Amino acid sequence: MKKVRTRYAPSPTGFMHVGNLRSAIFEYLIAKHNDGDFILRIEDTDQARKVEGAVEFIYETCHLCGLDFDEGPNNPGAYGPYTQSERLDIYNKYAHELVEKGEAYYCFCTEKRLEELRYQAELEKRAFQYDGYCKNLTKEQIEEKIRNGEKYVIRQRMPKEGISSYEDVVFGKIVVENKILEDQILLKSDGFPTYNFANVVDDHLMAITHVARGNEYLMSTPKYNLLYDAFGWEKPVYIHLPMVLGEDGQKLSKRNGDASFMDLYNDGYLPEGVVNYLVLLGWSPEGNEEIFTLDELIKIFDPKRISKSPAIFDIKKLNWVNAHYIKKLSIDKLYDITIPHLQKAYNIENKSEEWLRHLISIYQNHVSYGKEIVSLVSLFFNDDIKIEGEVKEFMESDSSIPSTLNVFREEIESIALWTVDNIVTAINNTKEKTGAKGKLLYMPIRIKVSGQMHGPELPDTIYLLGKETVIKRLYN
Ligand code: GLU
Repeated sequence: MKKVRTRYAPSPTGFMHVGNLRSAIFEYLIAKHNDGDFILRIEDTDQARKVEGAVEFIYETCHLCGLDFDEGPNNPGAYGPYTQSERLDIYNKYAHELVEKGEAYYCFCTEKRLEELRYQAELEKRAFQYDGYCKNLTKEQIEEKIRNGEKYVIRQRMPKEGISSYEDVVFGKIVVENKILEDQILLKSDGFPTYNFANVVDDHLMAITHVARGNEYLMSTPKYNLLYDAFGWEKPVYIHLPMVLGEDGQKLSKRNGDASFMDLYNDGYLPEGVVNYLVLLGWSPEGNEEIFTLDELIKIFDPKRISKSPAIFDIKKLNWVNAHYIKKLSIDKLYDITIPHLQKAYNIENKSEEWLRHLISIYQNHVSYGKEIVSLVSLFFNDDIKIEGEVKEFMESDSSIPSTLNVFREEIESIALWTVDNIVTAINNTKEKTGAKGKLLYMPIRIKVSGQMHGPELPDTIYLLGKETVIKRLYN
């Protein structure tokens, strides 16, 4: 059997939103599930969109996510070059081969003529399609035009009758009427190929066996298949992926500031969490388990379980998945992904590393991504804690609360050595002396010192606040 090969084929725009990354993940999983190769191909035929450093950015993003390329522009294999702008002579050769075979033709129509055709189609309220004007030029006419320096493109000669169909792994049987297939441009007058042509030539020459890509190409794939037929090449397996939409139901885009992997990463999301979440966007495993490492995904990934419906990027679900991975981190790693955010938000210069590590560790089960710690720990950095709303209501809900707090304050004041153990003892002594227990013991203390009804371990919270601050808050 042929070795399975998939490719990730981005345009080098220097940006990868979560939808782009999900395509890469699916392509990687399809390859690796079958012990195959995962290839990076840079589709830079639209030179205007090209961004300096974009290729390194793609390598870095994919590497962070554990998706390493077996071949690509920076680690070429036997099928290079892997950047389309370096393959122009290849496209040129194959386009001319199609002309020789009668499967494509030179078209000298000017932009002005095409404009008129478009205008006419608009007036008649029909979809524009090139009218095949140059389809039947004679060899002599063509030669003369070329001699005269007229610019030309090469167009694919489409059948005008019958139907074309193919089987997509996700969307099933796709059928189109040939008469709607335009004689599409394969090679532009500047010598660059269109996506429509380059993707076929490259997928064939790079021995790609499984083409997984966004479903915007679902209905144009019959045109690509006609090219495969014209060359006599074997077609790949097609796996068109449902779209990933933003929370507003709109297409993701850089312009809308939609979630890019790097933004998430910089906010302290973990690549393993993001990858795990993205896999669940439009794909589901058998069974109810949703937390998987990349290695587990390689074992179980089956593209037949990809859904046809668009998936909505849901940050709450991402947070839920990411939190699983945060809980498993070492304190060192947790420190690394939270400390830059604390540094930015608060003045932490006078805090010892030990204090910061202790603080971060008690929030491990409370944060779902690194930056989230900033809002959770404000009670340690801001003095103006407010007791209002339901918190205040609780404080007024039982007449025993003020005296419990008084006893607790005295216990705290009498602590000689400020340790978590001694704070635990102070709480226990308060319990014994006042008879308050459970919610009526812990909640008033927590509220008084933190302004909150919920939070991490109370003794640790009190310890980290420091004796002076705690006493001050208890007197307030
Ligand atoms: N360059 C194309 C895109 O970014 C790739 C499509 C494909 O995977 O064939 O949409």
